[in-house]
Amino acid sequence: MDQASDTALAVDIGGTKLAVGRVDRAGRLSARRTGPTPARGDAETMWERLAALVDEVRLGDEVVVGVGCGGPMTPDGAQVSPLNIPAWVGFPLRDRLAGLTGLPVHVDNDAKALALGEGWAGAARGVRDYIAMVVSTGVGGGIVVDGRLLDGAAGNAGHIGHVIVVPDGRTCGCGARGCLEAEASGTGIRAATGRDPAEADQALRRRTGTLVGRAVASVVNLLDLRLAVVAGSVALGYGEDFFAAAQAEVDARCRIEFARGARIVPAGLSDAGPLVGAAAVGWRGEGVDVGVGIDRR
Ligand SMILES: [Zn+2]
Repeated sequence: MDQASDTALAVDIGGTKLAVGRVDRAGRLSARRTGPTPARGDAETMWERLAALVDEVRLGDEVVVGVGCGGPMTPDGAQVSPLNIPAWVGFPLRDRLAGLTGLPVHVDNDAKALALGEGWAGAARGVRDYIAMVVSTGVGGGIVVDGRLLDGAAGNAGHIGHVIVVPDGRTCGCGARGCLEAEASGTGIRAATGRDPAEADQALRRRTGTLVGRAVASVVNLLDLRLAVVAGSVALGYGEDFFAAAQAEVDARCRIEFARGARIVPAGLSDAGPLVGAAAVGWRGEGVDVGVGIDRR
């Protein structure tokens, strides 16, 4: 399993679309197919749609399947219950994919997959200590320290969405107040403004960036990170307004000597990120180091 020609079958399962592709050992994506996540129907309807995509993409020479999927899931990824896919509650995704493909299958949450992908072939390439996060409908993240992805007791390490950024702020879905997800996610912005998050004015774009920067600063200060890479429709859609405000907040809050100079930047893989990350989950599951934290330039 150390041949440069080895290919992973990558699967990304989201609330709005399903995606499958082939990813080589250099992190290059090919043969991508996507389809809408069925809006209704039972667990088997959803599975049949995914299985059809897998069969369209695979050529038979793949050696592992890697999956990025919304949480929650069991710590080993055997059963998934994505919040944004109500038809799947405790769905045995790993075993079903193994049965379909005859390959080893590894499943992890999509934000952790993104972190691996960005370290392998994206904006965090060559960086040993970073957080990768998604700011879109919700907020999630994954953290690499010492070149290794953190898992945590139940596999949720890096879930930055519930770091408090506004004391006594908006009530979050988790029950706490002022969580980053309640203040800066698309869902939170829509609830606060009554409008499509894409219509945010400059002040709101900057506020969202500031709050993301605030959460990132706490994590940088805690874990001695150097970099935060941010993906997701809210962050990337808000663009320079968002990232300038986020960097200014990081600069203002990361004052202890080791944390100074930390950067917050857009993710580098754009829409290939979820599948490249999913492939990295597969390789990681097989014990293959794709080279996160290694500078190969
Ligand atoms: Zn919360």
